[in-house]
This record gives sequence, structure tokens and C-alpha cells, in this order.
Amino acid sequence: NLQATTTLYNGVKMPWFGLGVFKVEEGPELVNAVKFAIKQGYRSIDTAAIYGNEEGVGQAIREAMTEYGIKRDELFITSKVWNSDLGYESTIAAYETSLRKLGLEYLDLYLIHWPVEAKFVEAWRALETIYKEGKVKAIGVSNFQVHHLEKILKDAEMKPMVNQVEYHPRLTQAEVKAFCDNNGIQFEAWSPLMQGQLFDNPLLKELANKYNKTVAQIILRWDLQNGVVTIPKSTKEHRIIENSNLFDFELTKVDMGKISSLNENDRVGPDPDNID
Ligand code: NAD
Repeated sequence: NLQATTTLYNGVKMPWFGLGVFKVEEGPELVNAVKFAIKQGYRSIDTAAIYGNEEGVGQAIREAMTEYGIKRDELFITSKVWNSDLGYESTIAAYETSLRKLGLEYLDLYLIHWPVEAKFVEAWRALETIYKEGKVKAIGVSNFQVHHLEKILKDAEMKPMVNQVEYHPRLTQAEVKAFCDNNGIQFEAWSPLMQGQLFDNPLLKELANKYNKTVAQIILRWDLQNGVVTIPKSTKEHRIIENSNLFDFELTKVDMGKISSLNENDRVGPDPDNID
């Protein structure tokens, strides 16, 4: 079901499915979308300091908890430290700022947003400190390639619990996904719908017909069956519902393979090796 979870290597349970809020500005559209999603059964919300919407996300969470009788520990809230705040002291301060804006006492997951080469090791030390002090339930990274992860694993005390990367049928990330799977790092997809660029794909349309589902549902189901946490974004109520109806069908192995063979190593976002 919609609230099914994967267990991170430290024992924390993370929903397989959630709502992303990238490019949703502060205001009623944001608050309504997050509240509506929670009302529909979503339990995981993915934001970031750079999205500039943590205050509205926090407001929506508080209102949803009161209005729908949901407890904080039923929710899974993720935010991310932005590039300009990477460093030991600055990352610890950024975490406190995110908590204050969200109006929360803790986050479920805090991620290094991008692997800025000169700074991510120090930032990881800061996340370890925050975690050891019990201020966050889980820590992880985003947009890390294998070589970035190897650098962390080499001298860090803890390995990341999650790696959130761009992942969709045109970018299947075989190398980093295998590395994460083999190291107990939960793999999470961002832009799972390729920001809307996959809806005309003939194979995905054919499969949507075959399963009597939508293209979005086919793609998101492919994520789940690949063991990938997924966080599609929408502010439209009918799509928030549509994207969550993934738990009443199963793609065959052959169809899973066909979807994966759409890979072209094609990105919508920046290349993690060109970040500074
Ligand atoms: P997405 O792939 O989720 O696509 C969202 C777009 O698809 C929206 O414009 C929406 O209008 C459209 N859409 C959604 N559901 C649809 C449906 N059922 N039918 C038709 N159109 C539909 O793109 P995204 O927002 O970039 O990615 C999802 C989340 O991932 C973000 O909101 C954010 O939380 C996270 N993210 C993280 C990073 C990172 O660097 N860590 C980068 C980008 C996004």
C-alpha cells in the first residue's frame, strides 16, 4: 500500500513513495497540495532549503496533523543542505535553519544536495554529528556518483543511508544503483517522471494501455519493482491521487526489462561531476 516502507540500514522505516515539491513556491497552492497528499495517505514529503518552500511545507504538515489526526512519527520529512552551506559549522547551522523554517523538532532524513567536490566530506562529518546527537533519524546524500560514495566510505564513520539521484527510464544509472544496492544504501529517484518528458513515449503508452494504467503509473510502478524509492511532484489533486495508485498491479519481468531498455543516459538535471 501507499504507506509501505523500506527499512534503512539503521532500522529507520522510509516510505517507498512520497511527494516532491521542487519548483512549488510558498503560497496556498503549496500548502493545499501537501495537505491534500497527506489526506490521501502520502506520508513522505521531499523538500530542500534551495526550494525556498520549507515554511509552507511546515505549515501544511502542522495543519494536516491537526485536521486529519496524524502524528509526527507517522510522517517522513526530508530536506537537503544547499551547496553554499556545505562545511562543518555551516552545515550544522543550515540544519537548524531548515528545522526552524519547517517548524519541526527533527527531520526524518537530511541529505547533502550535491557532491561539491571540495566540501562534501566536511559536510558529511557534520551530518554524522547531527545524527549522533539524535537530532535527525537518518542521513544521506543526493546526486552522488560511485566515486563520491567511495570517498565518503573511505574515511567516514557512517555510510549514507540513502542516495537520491535523477532516475527514470531514460537514465537508469546502472553503475551507481548497483553500488548502492550492494552497500545497503537505499536508492531514491528524483524527477522520476523526467519532469514530464516521457508521456509521449510509444512503449510507455503501449504498456499503459496493456495494464489499463497511465504512463505515470507505469513509470512509478517500475521504480517500486526496482527497489527504488520514488517522489513524483504534482500540485494537482487528480494527479496526486493518480500517482499514488500503484499498489494494485504488477509489471511482468519482460515489461520491466523493456522499460529499462529505454535508457539513453539522458539527464534533465545537472551532471553531478560538474558542480561547484
Ligand atoms: P517529476 O519527474 O516528478 O515531474 C514532475 C512534473 O510532471 C510536474 O511538472 C507535473 O506537472 C508533471 N506530472 C506529475 N504527475 C503527472 C501525471 N500523473 N500526469 C502528467 N503529468 C504529471 O519532476 P521533479 O519535480 O523534478 O522531481 C520530483 C521531486 O524530486 C522534486 O519535486 C524534488 O522533491 C526532487 N528533486 C530532487 C533533486 C535533487 O537534486 N536531489 C532534483 C530535482 C528534483
